[in-house]
Amino acid sequence: MAERTAPLRFFRDDHFKEKFKDENVVTVTSVDQVAVELNVEEAYDAFRVDWHRVKPVLQREKHFQYLKKGLRHLSESYSCLDASRPWLCYWILHSLELLGEPLDECTASQTSTHSANELHLPQPRLSMKSQHIYVLQPMLDEQKLSETYPTSNHICEFLARCQNPNGGFGGGPGQEPHLAPTYAAVNALCIIGTEEAYDIINREKLLEFLFSVKQPNGSFTMHVSGEVDVRCQNWEGGIGGVPGMEAHGGYTFCGMAAMVILKKEWMLDLKALLRWVTSRQMRFEGGFQGRCNKLVDGCYSFWQAGLLPLLHRALHIEGKNTLSMTHWMFHQEALQEYILLCCQNSTGGLLDKPGKSRDFYHTCYCLSGLSVAQHFGGGELLHEIIVGDENNRLEPTHPVYNIGPEKVAQAIMHFLKLSVPQMKSDSN
Ligand SMILES: [Zn+2]
Repeated sequence: MAERTAPLRFFRDDHFKEKFKDENVVTVTSVDQVAVELNVEEAYDAFRVDWHRVKPVLQREKHFQYLKKGLRHLSESYSCLDASRPWLCYWILHSLELLGEPLDECTASQTSTHSANELHLPQPRLSMKSQHIYVLQPMLDEQKLSETYPTSNHICEFLARCQNPNGGFGGGPGQEPHLAPTYAAVNALCIIGTEEAYDIINREKLLEFLFSVKQPNGSFTMHVSGEVDVRCQNWEGGIGGVPGMEAHGGYTFCGMAAMVILKKEWMLDLKALLRWVTSRQMRFEGGFQGRCNKLVDGCYSFWQAGLLPLLHRALHIEGKNTLSMTHWMFHQEALQEYILLCCQNSTGGLLDKPGKSRDFYHTCYCLSGLSVAQHFGGGELLHEIIVGDENNRLEPTHPVYNIGPEKVAQAIMHFLKLSVPQMKSDSN
């Protein structure tokens, strides 16, 4: 069942009352907040000119073209993400699946057109001065990429090259294994969802890598000899990077999702967490901030709003019977308005806030947040709220793993058939 929403919240006569009030105390933060509200207002006003005729539209085709082009080549500004190439694969693949445009699977005959020799041609490490960097380099040479879009098989082969012989995935071929690209690579392979993709993951070695970064206090370092990454609920109600650190949307989502996987949600103060996250939705802008007193940012559309389905479920398990059966506990329409009217680049791709440039990270998490805001529940309890054009509807996303729900089910079915790898050495 889909619910239609109109008119837009932003155009209600009293919406200006939601603006930030500095109470005559001007600070750097208050000046920034007022400036952002002005930019957001301009973005909404630009739309207001003909809002009686036009509904907010998700520029699907433009985003689709931007994403596909990204797999082919990236501008120099992405050279700083040379150690995050499995992330680029995940961000783009997940954005495409949300848009209902999964990447073509390479057929057997297509595969044979690229001989193993061509695909594994040794190439020098990516030069930061190169005119373009390619997500999949050195998988495909420049000429090949200009001729064809990569298929899911190309991505599988690239990610296989990012896997370390000692377990885990690095940020690119030959790089040291690290937890973050390992997470991204596994998610990307599960989105592709073929037996070949699953089989790339060396589970025995991955387990060894995970134990190699596990610390005696239960925490994990991101890589061998790397930073400890604890995630700890603090007095604010959210979760910070280490004990005593301020609560942050990204850490909070990862911490809560880990607790859901471990079935230990009850160990968190769920009410304090609920109060913290719902207070992060900005009254005027409609989007979320990542931390208290920070500015709205499109990527927190997922890191923060994505917490609400997890909290809804956890509170339901605790027996809270006053929970809504149709809505999450945040303003779903307001978030959709912010993403649709303030976060879309006119030539494709999504962004942090008006005035910022687009990138694949924000494209992925703006679309993920939009999907969460559109879909409540699932199965018989499914309740959709689509702001604007009906074609704005995205595919749903799994609230814990942030890939398609059917891809999660498919991966679980596959890996349940396999025996759990055992550590060879004596380890706890
Ligand atoms: Zn952001």
